[in-house]
Amino acid sequence: MDHYDVIIIGTGAGGGTLAHRLAPTGKRILLLERGGYLPREPENWDSNEVFLKERYLSGEEWIDRDGSPFRPHQQYFVGGNTKFYGAILFRLRERDFHEVRHYAGISPAWPLTYDDFEPYYAEAERLYLVHGERGEDPTEAPASGPFPYPAVSHEPRIQQLHDDFVKTGHHPFHLPVGVDLDESDPEGGRCVRCDRFDGFPCLTDGKADAHVRCVRPALKHPNVTLRTHAHVQRLETDDSGHSVTEVVVQRRGEEERYSADVVVVSCGAANSAALLLRSASDRHPRGLANSSDVVGRHYMAHINSGVIAISQTPNTTKFQKTLGVNDYYFGAEDSELPLGHIQMLGKSDRHILRGGAPWFAPGLALDYVAKHAIDFWLTTEDLPHPENRVTVDRQGRIHLAKVDHNVEPHRRLLRKLKDLLGPLGCHDTFIPSWSVLDKRIPLAGVAHQCGTVRFGTDPATSALDVDCKAHDLDNLYVVDTSFFPSSSAVNPALTAMANALRVGDHLAERLGATFEAALQEIS
Ligand SMILES: Cc1cc2nc3c(=O)[nH]c(=O)nc-3n(C[C@H](O)[C@H](O)[C@H](O)COP(=O)(O)OP(=O)(O)OC[C@H]3O[C@@H](n4cnc5c(N)ncnc54)[C@H](O)[C@@H]3O)c2cc1C
Ligand code: SF4
Repeated sequence: MDHYDVIIIGTGAGGGTLAHRLAPTGKRILLLERGGYLPREPENWDSNEVFLKERYLSGEEWIDRDGSPFRPHQQYFVGGNTKFYGAILFRLRERDFHEVRHYAGISPAWPLTYDDFEPYYAEAERLYLVHGERGEDPTEAPASGPFPYPAVSHEPRIQQLHDDFVKTGHHPFHLPVGVDLDESDPEGGRCVRCDRFDGFPCLTDGKADAHVRCVRPALKHPNVTLRTHAHVQRLETDDSGHSVTEVVVQRRGEEERYSADVVVVSCGAANSAALLLRSASDRHPRGLANSSDVVGRHYMAHINSGVIAISQTPNTTKFQKTLGVNDYYFGAEDSELPLGHIQMLGKSDRHILRGGAPWFAPGLALDYVAKHAIDFWLTTEDLPHPENRVTVDRQGRIHLAKVDHNVEPHRRLLRKLKDLLGPLGCHDTFIPSWSVLDKRIPLAGVAHQCGTVRFGTDPATSALDVDCKAHDLDNLYVVDTSFFPSSSAVNPALTAMANALRVGDHLAERLGATFEAALQEIS
C-alpha cells in the first residue's frame, strides 16, 4: 500500500485549490478523483448535447424523500463541478458570517468572521482570475484591494438593462467573473467571449476552473500524483478509531488501498457526507466523524429560479453573465427581512429552452423567445434544517430529503423582478401561454449544495472544528462546501476556494512544511 503525506479526495473547488496550495511544500500528495479528464470535443459547446442529451451528467440515480429515484445534475471530472460552473465568484457578505433572521427562521453565525476569510478571498480571487469593480455592489464587504482584473464589460443590451435598473432606483453592478479574458488585448487570454459560459465546459480553457487553474499546475510538481477513475468507497480507521489509516478505492473494477498522514475529503457536499456515512464502523456506528449526528444533515442548495424575460428588442448578447443586483439582498422597502440576489444567466438558446418548455412549444416560437430572451437567475438563502439531509441505505445509495422552507422571500423577489419587466424594456404581459417565464430549480439541481458536514466550535453540534478537521479524528479534514454552517444567497465556490487556501496553510504548518523552502527545492 502506497503511503503519502496527504491524500485529497476530489479535485473540485475545495480539493483542487487545496492541492494547488500544498503542491509547493514538497510533501507527497495523492489526489483521488472518481472521474476522468473531461474530453475536449466540439460537443462541449453543443447545447443539445449538454442540456438535452445530458452528455456529461454522471447518470447515477439518487432517491428523494418519497422513495422516488431522480438524476442529480452531478458531473464527475477532474475539476469537479467547476468544469461547468458560471464562474461567478462572490465573497459572502460581512453579515452572512453572523446570525441573520429570515422569513423561515435563523441563518446561524459562522465560527469565524469575514475578517478571518478576507486575505484568503483576496488570494482566491487572484488564483481564479476574478474580474470585477469594487464599490458598485451596495452589499459588498470591505476588501484589502481592488479586484485583480477589471470588470468584464456589458454588451449593449445588458448595458441598456443596467441603465434601466439605475433609472428605477437600483444599484446594478458588474458580476465578479473568473475568466482568462483581457479586453484590452484581443490576443491576450484564452476566452473568446462566447455564449456558452454557464453550464458548459470551456473548450478553450478560458474559464477559471479548478482543473485549469489549480490541478494542472499542481501536477507539475513531482511530489503530486493524480489517480483518475479512483472512486473512494470508504475510509477505515485504526482500532482506537482516532485516525484514518486506509482509503479504500474502486478503480477500473479493482480495489486499491492508500494511506496518508492526513486525509482530506472534498467530494462535494452530498458525496462527502455519503462517504463518511458509508465509513461507519464499530468505533463510529453513526458514520465517521459523526458523534454529533450532524453529518448529512442541514443540506442546503439555495432556493433558485431561472427567469426568462422577453425583451421588446432582440437580445444579441453573447457573454451575458456580467450584471448583478443586490438591492433586495437584505430586504426591501416592504420587507425588513432578506429576499435575495439577482444575476444574469448564460444566454439561452432553443435547446436550452426546449429543456424547460412543454412538448407542444413550437420550434419557431422557441427561436423567437431565444432571440429575445434576457435570462435571470434568482437566489434566496436556503436555511439549514436538520431534516433536510443526505443518508445512505444498505446498498450505499444516496437518499436526499429536502423541503424548501424559506420560500416566502423567494416569491417576493420574483414579484419584484416581474414588476420591473416593463421598465426594463421587456414584455410584462405578452408571454406565450406555455411560457418558461419562471422555473424553480428542482431537487435534482444540486449545483449549490452545501452544509452537510458543518464546522463549528462545539463538537455536539458540528462535525468539524474551525480548521475543518473532524472533531472525532486526528487526521481527517473536509474542505468542500459541506463545511458551510449557512448558505448565504450568493454563489458558493469562492468561499470553498478561500477556505481551502486557509486550511492549506494550517496543514502546511501541521506537516512542518514551509512554502519558501519547498519552492527553492523545486527550482
Ligand atoms: C452548472 C453549474 C453552474 C454553477 N455556477 C456557479 C457559479 O457561477 N459560481 C459559483 O460560485 N458556483 C457555481 N456552481 C457551484 C460550484 O460549481 C460548486 O459550488 C463547487 O464546484 C463546489 O466545490 P466542491 O469542492 O464542494 O465540489 P465539486 O466541485 O463538485 O468537487 C467534488 C469532486 O469530488 C469528486 N468525487 C465525488 N465523490 C467522490 C468519491 N467518492 N471518490 C473520489 N472522488 C469523488 C467529484 O468527481 C468532483 O471532482 C455551479 C455549479 C454548476 C453545476
Ligand atoms: S465565454 Fe470564454 S470562458 Fe466562457 S466558455 Fe466561452 S470562451 Fe470559454
